[in-house]
Amino acid sequence: MTKPALNRRPAWQELRPLPFRPCIEVVPGLYQVRTRASRAYLVVDAGITVIDTGAPGSGERILEAVRDIGRSPEDIRDIIITHAHIDHVGGLPELQRWVPARTGIHLAEARDVESDEPLPNPFAHALLARICEPYLLRVDPGPARIDVYLRDGDEFPALGGMRIIHVPGHTPGSIALHFPERGVLIVGDAMQYRFGRLMPPHRLFTRDMAQATASIRRLAELDFDTLCFSHFRPIVRDADLKVREFARSLPA
Ligand SMILES: [Zn+2]
Repeated sequence: MTKPALNRRPAWQELRPLPFRPCIEVVPGLYQVRTRASRAYLVVDAGITVIDTGAPGSGERILEAVRDIGRSPEDIRDIIITHAHIDHVGGLPELQRWVPARTGIHLAEARDVESDEPLPNPFAHALLARICEPYLLRVDPGPARIDVYLRDGDEFPALGGMRIIHVPGHTPGSIALHFPERGVLIVGDAMQYRFGRLMPPHRLFTRDMAQATASIRRLAELDFDTLCFSHFRPIVRDADLKVREFARSLPA
């Protein structure tokens, strides 16, 4: 089945300000933005890197957040997508219509975003996947442009160095972003943080739990103070110790 035609959107200069300001500074130069259905991040230095774009309709919130921190949407140089679930990549087509940023996703999921086909169904459970299929087709964002096919170990200059860590399991091409100079790790959906406890990614939306567990063990080898998620508040101190303890508690 092909995707519905994209709606034409106004240029970002024409957008009205949003009634609430959904942006918080996690550490200097890193901002968390509440998008529709998830959280995006702005990595801010000379240029701006946007990490994830929320569900469809989130583009305006991201641009508002950029203005809120005193910068211009024209400063957005890169967009990095942690994985091709609709609550992370859904705002990408509209954002690309407003800003000409270079966009990257892991090479395992680039075709999912570029293709005219709907995004892959995120439900791991076959019956749920089928029940939700009509809704997902209705809200599918349509194709978007991918300029860079990311691989494990790729590096970007943002905030003194941002390294791509491939963390398959939740999806085949899930990535985390490590900023060793700033002691920050952004894990997307590779982990959850509920009620003050770290947990594996949600079983309902995770393709391969064994692979997801192996990816958490890999993240536990990194050094960082601050840990950021796509659906939860960040852990701002000694986060790597917590992840190591959590990784040790996982079944072998
Ligand atoms: Zn996800």
